[in-house]
Amino acid sequence: MKKTIICTVCPNGCVVEAEYTTKEDLVLTGYGCKRGVVYCTDECFEPKRTFTSSVKIQGANRRMMPVRTTGPVPKELLMKCAEEAHKISLETPVKSQQVIKEDFLETGVDLIAAMTLE
Ligand code: SF4
Repeated sequence: MKKTIICTVCPNGCVVEAEYTTKEDLVLTGYGCKRGVVYCTDECFEPKRTFTSSVKIQGANRRMMPVRTTGPVPKELLMKCAEEAHKISLETPVKSQQVIKEDFLETGVDLIAAMTLE
């Protein structure tokens, strides 16, 4: 299989070519550093994304507040993350970076508030 991946780890945005049939014979070309190797290997075999969404909040002058995970989660869990986030209802005050759900869906990363609402 051949795949072109744009590495999003840093602003350089290296265009990496991946060729493989299994993880063991993966050949990557075009990357600028080892972080790109890790990112592109994950993109081929276990793609991950940082989850961002909004959850309900009460006591504020808005009905929803933005949240995100502290790191990437497996891409196939994004829909489940959205379903879980939909069940959450917070009350003010909430501080930016405040942990909303520890070890969100047992992914090893937390769901945190992305803004402060007093
Ligand atoms: S491969 Fe390295 S230098 Fe290139 S975009 Fe990814 S992190 Fe940046």
